[in-house]
Amino acid sequence: MKGKTEALQTPSFIFIFAPSMKNIQSFRTLIDRPQSAVILTHFKPDADALGSSLGLAGFLKKKGHKVQVITPSDYPDFISWMPGNEEVLAIDRKPETLQKASAIISAATVIFCLDFSNLSRINDLGAMVKASAATKVLIDHHLEPEKFAAFEQWDTTSASTAGLVFELIEQLEETHYIDQDIASCLYAGLMTDTGGFRHNNTHHREFQIASRLVSMGADPHEIAKEVYDTNTLERLRLTGYVLSQKLNVLPEYRTAYMTLSQDELRQFGAQTGDTEGLVNYGLSIKGVKLAVLMYDRKEEIKLSFRSLEDFSVNEMARKYFDGGGHKNASGGTTKLSLEQTLKKFLEILPEYKEQLQK
Ligand code: 5GP
Ligand code: MN
Repeated sequence: MKGKTEALQTPSFIFIFAPSMKNIQSFRTLIDRPQSAVILTHFKPDADALGSSLGLAGFLKKKGHKVQVITPSDYPDFISWMPGNEEVLAIDRKPETLQKASAIISAATVIFCLDFSNLSRINDLGAMVKASAATKVLIDHHLEPEKFAAFEQWDTTSASTAGLVFELIEQLEETHYIDQDIASCLYAGLMTDTGGFRHNNTHHREFQIASRLVSMGADPHEIAKEVYDTNTLERLRLTGYVLSQKLNVLPEYRTAYMTLSQDELRQFGAQTGDTEGLVNYGLSIKGVKLAVLMYDRKEEIKLSFRSLEDFSVNEMARKYFDGGGHKNASGGTTKLSLEQTLKKFLEILPEYKEQLQK
């Protein structure tokens, strides 16, 4: 990557980037030999998770590797246009898929973990990764990773894992392998993790990567249309219901919260991904600094946190909701009921009152 190479020549940056250079040489040696690669990403993959995985898969296939992408669950319809998605092994409720994944993972020579950094985020697949003798590679941008990988392309200052995959290919000097399909998958990840190039993680670096990907065939309009401008009527109705009936504001805590029960989700025929983006409406309310969406996804209660400025939802999600993520966008889960989860959230708010009122 141009920026990093330049930075390497600047003495004050040597300490930061030297490990990644050592990494890149060993990484090159690794992938210059044919491998049986497995690419894993987190439960309920979003566009960055799936896009970075499929982008990397496309690249590795072109280099002659055997590649299988495995997701710990299904994923939303609005990302199933991604080239290569038809070959993904998505774990469902049938035991066969898990058995198949287990066989593939134990036969793998290299396992890539993308867009997550704690093995708990891949559920049953975590134990399989731990047990495997394959070389593990982590490509991720989340805070506080678990140390399980031999090679890491880990950078919390990057807005997206897809961007890190692009930069890795660039560091290998192999961008000539990036075709329109690969570029589109990577662009989609970069676009969504920056909230359409609007979040505070959007820097010059993100536009540079986006620009390169567009020059390689990614179509910004088509991809934005697929991801942001394609809805089912049910999803729009659900959004309307949440905004009119379920959005609560606690002015003394500058907090907005929403809950959705299984009954409510069923009533609107909600599909995986239909709740994505709802939490941002809470954060858009003038004066609000913390927004939370809590919903029942059967296996667990899922929480989505968003915040502004210095308020760290990563800290809150990690401390109380078995989760994490980024400073201003995090997630977590509980095994409590929805009511108990809300109660717990409301009970911890006073601890953060001073920070929220700042
Ligand atoms: P979202 O609210 O969009 O699901 O997730 C926001 C951010 O938090 C993403 O970067 C996501 O990867 C992370 N995140 C979401 N759920 C969890 C979780 O249960 N555990 C951890 N560690 N991170 C999560
Ligand atoms: Mn991501």
